[in-house]
Formats: sequence, C-alpha cells, structure tokens
Amino acid sequence: MSIERELSKRSQNKCELCSNEENLAPYAVLPAKNGDLQDTIFACATCITQIEDPEQTDANHWRCLNDSMWSEQIPVQIIAWRMLSRLRKEGWPQDLLDMMYLDDENLEWAKATNEGEDDEDKIIHRDSNGVIINAGDSVVLIKDLPVKGSSMIAKRGTAVRRVSLDHENAEYIEGKVDGQQIVIITKYVKKL
Ligand SMILES: [Zn+2]
Repeated sequence: MSIERELSKRSQNKCELCSNEENLAPYAVLPAKNGDLQDTIFACATCITQIEDPEQTDANHWRCLNDSMWSEQIPVQIIAWRMLSRLRKEGWPQDLLDMMYLDDENLEWAKATNEGEDDEDKIIHRDSNGVIINAGDSVVLIKDLPVKGSSMIAKRGTAVRRVSLDHENAEYIEGKVDGQQIVIITKYVKKL
C-alpha cells in the first residue's frame, strides 16, 4: 500500500491536526528518520502552509491542537508540540504544552527545528512602519543619508535591493547603493 493510502486509512481521511477533509497530503516531520509512517502525518494544505511559514500562522486555527495533541501518533504529537511552542506567547498554547508528555527521544526530535526558541533573543529588523525586514528584501530610503566614511549621499527614494541584516543589531541593515555596500539605519527605510 502506498504511504498516502496508509495515511488516509490511519487518519480516516482527515487532517490529523485539524480534521479538515480537503486538500490532504502526506507531510514528513523533519528531520525524518525513516521516511515512513512513523515520521509522516496526513495534513491539509492550511495546516502545512502555516507549519512551513511562521508569518502565516493563525493562532486560532491551532485551537484544533486541543484535541489532536492527544493523538496516539508520535509525528502528530511532534507537530503539535512545535506549533504550541511557536504560539506559546498567546497563553493557551503554553497551558496545552504543559500538559503534553513526550519521552526524551521524542522531545529531542520535537526540538530539532528550534521552534519556540526564545524570540526575545532573536533580533528582528523593522522598517519605519514597523514592517519586518528579512534578508533579501528590497527597501527604499525615506531620507537622504550621508554615507559614513565617504562624501556620498544616498538619496531619498533610492531603492536598495537584496539587503542583508546585521545580526547583532536590529537597527542596521546593509545593502548596495551605487555599487557600494553601505550600512543603513532601519528607521530610515520602507520595505518595498
Ligand atoms: Zn489541517
């Protein structure tokens, strides 16, 4: 039997996280050990999208974990643990997390993606409007900026493509203006 059919049978053809019955697909819980049923869940497109993209995570959708965290399936428990960890600042996910039990080996597996690592320690870069800037984004200068150590002025309205982030300091990003790599202060840019 194919893995998809086995999963469909195991889950009674429902998302093992939220019970949705549409757009289901096998989803490997990374780092997958064997690539078999033991490390794969059957999940809907909504769940998979949100698991993969923290920015699209809708906390309310994950109220479904109230039930599915009690699944007998270890890979389902692993994803439940990771999503609850990601959302724990909401309060209720932390309460559920406190009720969960994973043995040492599975806890190690759950932690492998660093989900929910203290993001107070994580440096987040935001533009003048508070929008998060990620490495590779493009920004536009909203102010004329003198470039340190040169007579050059980076003009307001200049687009800076594919910026990189200063991982030590949330106020600085770097990018090329007129072929020159410069440091830019985040409060003087707007994300494009
Ligand atoms: Zn789902």
